[in-house]
Amino acid sequence: MMSKSLTLPAKPRQFGHFINGSIVPVGNRDTLIRTSPAHDRPVTIMPVCTPTDLDAAVMSARVAFEDRRWSGLGGAERAGILLRAATILRRRVNDIAYWEVLENGKPISQARAEIQGCIGMLEYASGLARSLHGDAFNNLGDAMLGLVTREPVGVVGIITPWNFPFLILCERVPYILASGNCIVAKPSEFTSATSLLLAEILTEAGLPDGVFNVVTGTGDTIGRAMSTHMDIDMLSFTGSTAVGRQIVQAAGQSNFKKLSLELGGKNPQIVFADAALGDAADGVAFGIGFNAGQCCISGSRLIVERSVAKKFGQMVANKLMKAVIGDPLNDSTQIGAITTDSQYQAIMHYIETGQSEGAHLVCGGDVPRQSRGRYINPTVFTDVTPEMTIMREEIFGPVLSVIPFETIEEAIAIANATDYGLAASVWTQSLDTALQVTRRVRAGRFWVNTTLAGGPEMPIGGFKQSGWGREAGIYGVEEYTQIKSVHIEIGQRTHWIS
Ligand code: NAD
Repeated sequence: MMSKSLTLPAKPRQFGHFINGSIVPVGNRDTLIRTSPAHDRPVTIMPVCTPTDLDAAVMSARVAFEDRRWSGLGGAERAGILLRAATILRRRVNDIAYWEVLENGKPISQARAEIQGCIGMLEYASGLARSLHGDAFNNLGDAMLGLVTREPVGVVGIITPWNFPFLILCERVPYILASGNCIVAKPSEFTSATSLLLAEILTEAGLPDGVFNVVTGTGDTIGRAMSTHMDIDMLSFTGSTAVGRQIVQAAGQSNFKKLSLELGGKNPQIVFADAALGDAADGVAFGIGFNAGQCCISGSRLIVERSVAKKFGQMVANKLMKAVIGDPLNDSTQIGAITTDSQYQAIMHYIETGQSEGAHLVCGGDVPRQSRGRYINPTVFTDVTPEMTIMREEIFGPVLSVIPFETIEEAIAIANATDYGLAASVWTQSLDTALQVTRRVRAGRFWVNTTLAGGPEMPIGGFKQSGWGREAGIYGVEEYTQIKSVHIEIGQRTHWIS
């Protein structure tokens, strides 16, 4: 059932891409029609930009960067614009959430919460725009002062995936803007609308033309062209590990652009028998059910102490079976649609593989009865072994694999037995156990007795094959700066040639 106040658009909304402060009309470009994954109805029409469009966007960012219309401002002025953007976004939460839900299929209440989080990022990054500073070495002797300054990298490309189109963009844009960079963003071809709405908001807030540009289109054309572009100084890529690998190669074969990569994950939830099991079961269910498990940081491997494993697996399954699945425009929905057809097929294939490799299906594995859209019931597998495909590969769907452990050493070893290292959670009432696990499991984001928590202050990023670099917080500002060391001679020079 759809909530009374929210209905589908009467006809799909046509968007244009965004260059130099203006929406570019579609003209004779091809278009992509996006169908809502929850409603099977066309909701948006996006231009399929060409490499020539990308060149125009990069040129616009380059000109804006070189003439210092943004980087030349004081931090206080940049902060003012970011704060104004936060105010405008606060006014537009419902509007942005609506388009996010239509293209992505996530529950509207969740979309609103994500956008509230983005307001915080704009506000926090505004403070960082003012406080970003370098260092001074006043200990180099009477004849020398050393300054270490930070400068913006220049033109930054951002490529985002379809699972959190607005949130992932806002985990980057405010921080990248804080130090004075200019941006060309390419959203996923499935979920481009809200990136274009962010362009509107930043422009209304007073961001100078050319500082933030959005080019829509496919990964194969625009994404690839960004990775080899000679005039993009740094590229932030969020998406699959396979594409991340191609981007690393492309950067090496073009201009050695600096890269920040946020890739896949196969994240452990480690539950000890002494944990508050009711809280842990709820947290583990949330960790795999949130965004229908289409999160790089989903807790998809439940590593649970053997003495409670059976009981706890059932507790998680009982929770998940009560989750409200359905129309994401309904306020009470907790799990929405699977965002793309190919992702739906991939998840169903993993569920079949889990069964054929001998894992025991405790709940889910099927689809709920809905009149339209594509949904998958949250699925829990027990009797999973380390070699099974569902234990090793990122599924990117609501599928939890449960494996028992006997000792803390074994729990840590299982948690680390993956190529990924994005996130991990540990549930225990023992501080000692929590700290040992937190120290020894290799992951960029860690949660103790909670999961999927975050905030504008806290950095994001992965160990191992989950990526390079950090986004958000002061770390996400510094990542997009270059460091320059400046040596200043004081007094008369001691001559080399007398
Ligand atoms: P994807 O890698 O297919 O696409 C991500 C983005 O890259 C899209 O904008 C796409 O158009 C573009 N792209 C595709 N091919 C490209 C190429 N050859 N060159 C340049 N760009 C290209 O991933 P997806 O299917 O959109 O998202 C799911 C994946 O993203 C999952 O594997 C997930 O783990 C990962 N992810 C990671 C994070 C993180 O923060 N670590 C966050 C979200 C998603």
